[in-house]
Amino acid sequence: MDNKPIIAIATAHGSGGIGIIRISGHNLENLIKIICGQDLKPRYASLLNIYEEDDKSNIIDKVIAVYFKNPHSYTGEDILELQAHGGMVVLDMLIQKCLNVGKNFGMRLAKAGEFTQRAFLNGKIDLIQAEAVADIINANSENAVKSASLSLQGHFSKSIHELLDKLIYLRLLIESSIDFPEEELDYSHTQSIENQFNNIIENFNQIMRKSQQGYILHKGISIVLAGEPNVGKSSLINALAQKDVAIVTPIAGTTRDKISIDIQINGVNVRLIDTAGLRETNDTIEEIGIQRTWQAIQESNILLYITSFEEQNQSISNINIPYENKIMGAILEKNPNLEIIQVKNKSDLVYKSDAITRDMDNIINISAKTGYGLNDLRAKILDIIGYKNDNEGIFLARKRHINALQNTAHSIELAHSNFKYGNQIDLIAEELRIAQENLNTITGNFTSDDLLGKIFSEFCIGK
Ligand code: GDP
Repeated sequence: MDNKPIIAIATAHGSGGIGIIRISGHNLENLIKIICGQDLKPRYASLLNIYEEDDKSNIIDKVIAVYFKNPHSYTGEDILELQAHGGMVVLDMLIQKCLNVGKNFGMRLAKAGEFTQRAFLNGKIDLIQAEAVADIINANSENAVKSASLSLQGHFSKSIHELLDKLIYLRLLIESSIDFPEEELDYSHTQSIENQFNNIIENFNQIMRKSQQGYILHKGISIVLAGEPNVGKSSLINALAQKDVAIVTPIAGTTRDKISIDIQINGVNVRLIDTAGLRETNDTIEEIGIQRTWQAIQESNILLYITSFEEQNQSISNINIPYENKIMGAILEKNPNLEIIQVKNKSDLVYKSDAITRDMDNIINISAKTGYGLNDLRAKILDIIGYKNDNEGIFLARKRHINALQNTAHSIELAHSNFKYGNQIDLIAEELRIAQENLNTITGNFTSDDLLGKIFSEFCIGK
């Protein structure tokens, strides 16, 4: 493993009160002495000057320097942190100075995510925790931060490890049967294998549920709004966003890009996409915008089809206007998996009492004007995507975690049914081995270099 010193600015680019430079590598003591002009006691903050040249004629900055001696550091290597003034020029000058004196030590600029990658390679954290670091940095809702923090503390990893232990134990039970002819396997042995299978399946399902919830939180959802002009699409977007958002007035021919806005529903990120711009056009720029809207629709989860009490007798199966019919048809053709929620707006025009407008014909009646029915709509949206809004131990899972869990589930199921139907024991053992391998990819115990490279390249430089 490359453990030559790497250096990067760890704080965000731009101006700030403090800017932090971080150096990590093997055996930094000599290098630290040259950069700081003195030895540093590990884990003590020292106020010192960093000079441009050895003759100490020009000072670059007065900094606080902290030395974390391995293995008690983020990366598990020696780390030097310089807390300087937070300007890009001064930080660049400090980096340049360190690179100049660090040349002889093989120092170079760090690649994106390289500090965290070293922490992973040195066994300070596993892959789930490394990903959680990036997730905390990129989190854009409180729920996402809380779940990522739990993962960083090791909750997700612990569950995977517990399941792995159970799988290994089951493999032992199964493999110890291989040496016996079938008729000699006693009942209690078979029973304990069956019990262990059931225990694993129950445990697995729990992890899967928490991961799927977390995946929704991680990825967010996307909702397409469709309906005739004037039914209140913009008003509904404003009402859901709970603030006035600037929305381009959907006049045919003026749309230059897809109209979308990001809101949150109970901590879940939701992108609302207005389809008002989907008109036929000869304008190339507009065409690009329209293509983007189609792209967004293809990636969406839910279609809100909005009608209004102003115009009666409309429902999804009875759309009078040919144009809307065409658009709806095209939307559903592009994304046949879209879940549809029918919403009837402007209930305030018709009903004076809120109570009687609830849940008619599977249509959610709302009033964007008064706010009536919006909570029902929010609940329906979360219900459709399967989000339970209980934050207890949600695992902020990524797509690769879900894929690995699905593969694991497949192998466990196969192993279990092979066992139940009395099939060859080595078939069962082989499926359990595959299940174990899949689980191991989640924590990084069994993960290809390509995948590791991809995961860490998504980090920012300096992390
Ligand atoms: P869009 O063309 O579908 O985006 O519709 P708008 O949001 O621009 O609304 C069209 C008109 O309907 C505006 O005059 C809104 O004030 C009005 N409107 C929207 N929602 C409601 C509602 O819930 N009740 C009433 N009474 N009027 C509404």
